[in-house]
Amino acid sequence: MSDSTTTNQTEQHTFQAEVQQLLHLMVHSLYSNREIFLRELVSNAADACDKLRFQALSNDSLLAEDSELRIRIELDNDNKTITVSDNGIGMSRDEVIENIGTIARSGTRQFLKNLEQKDADQAQLIGQFGVGFYSSFIVAEQVILETRRADQSAGQATRWTSDGSGEYTLEVIEREQRGTSVIIKLKQDADEFAQDYRVRSTVQRYSGHIGFPVQMLQTPPQQEDSDEQPLPEWQTINDTTALWTKPKQELSNEDYQGFYQSLTHDHRPALTWAHNKVEGTQSYTSLLYIPEQAPFDMAFNRDERTGLKLYVQRVFIMDAAEQLLPRYLRFMRGVVDSSDLPLNVSREILQENELLGKIKSAVVKRSLDMLKKTGKDQEQYLKFWEQFGTVLKEGIVEDFSNRDAVAGLLRFPSTKTKDGELTSLAEYIERMPEGQEQIWYVTADNPKAAAGSPHLEWFREQDIEVLLMGDRIDEWVMGHWHEYEGKSFKSIAKGELNEDQKAELSEDDQKLIERLQELLKDKVQEVRTSNRLTSSAACLVVDEHAMAMHMQMMLQQAGQDIPVSLPHLEINLNHSLVKRIAGAGDEEFADLGMLLHEQAVLSEGGQLDNPAEFVQRVNRLIG
Ligand code: ADP
Repeated sequence: MSDSTTTNQTEQHTFQAEVQQLLHLMVHSLYSNREIFLRELVSNAADACDKLRFQALSNDSLLAEDSELRIRIELDNDNKTITVSDNGIGMSRDEVIENIGTIARSGTRQFLKNLEQKDADQAQLIGQFGVGFYSSFIVAEQVILETRRADQSAGQATRWTSDGSGEYTLEVIEREQRGTSVIIKLKQDADEFAQDYRVRSTVQRYSGHIGFPVQMLQTPPQQEDSDEQPLPEWQTINDTTALWTKPKQELSNEDYQGFYQSLTHDHRPALTWAHNKVEGTQSYTSLLYIPEQAPFDMAFNRDERTGLKLYVQRVFIMDAAEQLLPRYLRFMRGVVDSSDLPLNVSREILQENELLGKIKSAVVKRSLDMLKKTGKDQEQYLKFWEQFGTVLKEGIVEDFSNRDAVAGLLRFPSTKTKDGELTSLAEYIERMPEGQEQIWYVTADNPKAAAGSPHLEWFREQDIEVLLMGDRIDEWVMGHWHEYEGKSFKSIAKGELNEDQKAELSEDDQKLIERLQELLKDKVQEVRTSNRLTSSAACLVVDEHAMAMHMQMMLQQAGQDIPVSLPHLEINLNHSLVKRIAGAGDEEFADLGMLLHEQAVLSEGGQLDNPAEFVQRVNRLIG
């Protein structure tokens, strides 16, 4: 993991490369918003208290005689230091190495990449990602962390020291109290953080809703009849009542937003929230938030889920996003506090707990409701949709019991929406002329390809609205979803459009089709005339239930072994290129026929098997 050398009990270690990179950025490039380091340290301290309180439920000797969990901040204006201490769980030596020398979290690389971009707003990115402990190097010349695990003895404590360059040292020390102290020797230009007022207001702003007392020393006013200078006393500077336990009427928008920020470390305000107290056979409170922006890796990272904290009677139990939220709602944030779950629940018990199942379905319903309400404000909903729409679509496949509710939340561009606008399915159905039974759609690899699909020509001409699905996930979703409100979905790029409209073919046309068929027999199932096309010469059409062409091509390119089903090539007999092919001699016929097919592939957003040949062919024809 890291190199180490030992001198008199002091061991020197080298940081993991990513940590070094992160530290370098902290030390050199962050000038605004520096106070976030305090939020991060207080939040770590509160987590440590939460962990100890939870473990003490089954082992109360851990709390010993020091049972008031709290966080203390001490300032030394002479030496320019600030110290954040907690009497929480603490760390063993190995845990220090593991936690404070490496970055295990996924998404870190992505974060670093974003941070390095020229115009990146670093403070914003750091706020969004929450770089935790390392943020102390924004203001520190040197950081000393002293810690003792709650179940270890005074002689087994650890001191970790670093100046934020490539290395840190470890020492075994004596420490009377369990828990952790982070002592920051402030850089010269950051000495404001040794001042009481500055620190107090920062903590109140960022950590006002931490569930443990945050204390600072305060000297009481001198008594009039006494010469004695009174000694400073610890004073709690935050409101430690859990916010969600307060009645709604007592809470302002700022309270909710402040709590959201301390919960998520997101520096942006939440988009919206819902706060509910349920009493009855089971009692619980939920406070759910929709963030304004997605974290970097959310869309891709379906497995690592955090963001919904479970409390039992105000005791933090665990992050229970996995137990309480389906994957497609993984962007939700918040807390659930149950009065009925046993305090000593374990993950295993939670998996099977019936009560939790009920809470989960209520949380899902509330989340969907909240989104429905947000949907009434188009502008706000578009913001949400842009960030989380792709994720929400997974719900159509994943959550059959709430499919209609999820469907009501989906939005798509269509051939009838203006640039940047989207339509709901209900609006589409409302616009359907009498006699239209199906909801028409086209899927493609990206929005441009969807809007440019040659299959749309006939629909445009007939003034029939088509949903333009340009998200990769759409083809997968539509493969599992066949109707909405009694109307079936139909892809404009699959199956025969309209059998009755087919005109009788002349002998020449028949011959042309047979010749093309022979030429393209390895590439297409069949060549047929089309009634979809007006201005394009040809397009590819797959069977009614086959995977869309663009998706087949994508999977093949990714090396996946998928059952190959050759498409049909539909040609437009009125097109000049097709007419020219009909009259061509053998050699030109081969070039033009191949070109016809290649055009169809390209307009699907596909890649050619042999682009070089294509270029030669075009040049031969031009030349
Ligand atoms: P995060 O808190 O997001 O996990 P940090 O870099 O802030 O990231 O901290 C890394 C880990 O170090 C924490 O997950 C925790 O295990 C440990 N840690 C940090 N501060 C403390 C503390 N005050 N007490 C106990 N453990 C701590």
